[in-house]
Amino acid sequence: MTKLIDGKQVANDLKVQIASSVKKLIALGITPGIAVILVGEDPASQIYVRNKQRAAEQLGIDSELINLPTTTSEAKLLAKIDQLNANPAIDAILVQAPLPAHINEERVQSAIAPEKDVDGFHPQNVGALYNNAKSYYPQANTPRGIMTLLAEYMPDLVGKKALVIGRSILVGRPMMAMLNNADATVTLAHRHTQDLDQLIATADLIVVAVGEPHFLKMSAAKADAVVIDVGINRLEDGSLVGDVLDDMPDSAQLLTPVPGGVGPMTIAMLMQTTIELARQHSTFE
Ligand code: NAD
Repeated sequence: MTKLIDGKQVANDLKVQIASSVKKLIALGITPGIAVILVGEDPASQIYVRNKQRAAEQLGIDSELINLPTTTSEAKLLAKIDQLNANPAIDAILVQAPLPAHINEERVQSAIAPEKDVDGFHPQNVGALYNNAKSYYPQANTPRGIMTLLAEYMPDLVGKKALVIGRSILVGRPMMAMLNNADATVTLAHRHTQDLDQLIATADLIVVAVGEPHFLKMSAAKADAVVIDVGINRLEDGSLVGDVLDDMPDSAQLLTPVPGGVGPMTIAMLMQTTIELARQHSTFE
């Protein structure tokens, strides 16, 4: 078996630290608060939102779910965001994607106050990430969770060949920027990339965020490659698989399992970002 990166364990350790930070903040009179807006009734989104809320509750973070009907107008959603921007009890605002087709996602992301933008999608925060700004700004939680896993399992990224496959706003693009900020040499591949096999065969680190079962075989990667599988795909039989097929018995490679790899880290990082924003809003620290 390829060696597995234990995302669950790293996420649980992080949650223990977060719970202790929340206690300290509460003792100072600061209760971190997150508002999650869900528009519509997409079953997968409902599960994601429930998991986020459960994690917040477990850690002592206040969470408010705002469930709006699919028919909600963009103006109404923007008005709700304005209200939350002005509410001092709310430190973090998350709008669950995907939004119904009649709502412009870019306008929604830009409407969230940058200092409450827990997903790090506001253009100001994206710009800070791309510029490797020194001051605090929230960063996208899935790639940030991956950076936390790498700190544990691949601490020296300097000069390493990192290949990111998939260039979504949620994963691939911020991943590219974070690895670049960590001084890796980054290649961003996507559906038009030529000679992908060649890039895969020479990369020290591969982050796969494509959304296709068994898109990458471990046997196509270097013998000591570290592979991060972001994909979450549900097969017809109901089972969950990632984008990677582990066909390398006894290899020295490292791989994140699905489930139990990147998923738990995303939620833990979301909570971490929430308490960081709460600290930023407080005058005590
Ligand atoms: P997306 O659909 O927005 O982007 C997919 C990307 O893959 C695109 O940039 C596309 O160019 C690229 N791609 C598609 N086919 C390709 C090919 N043949 N060769 C090279 N590149 C190709 O997806 P996303 O939102 O980034 O999500 C990707 C996967 O990660 C999904 O399965 C999603 O469910 C999962 N995901 C998991 C987490 C988590 O916390 N574990 C978080 C976000 C997304």
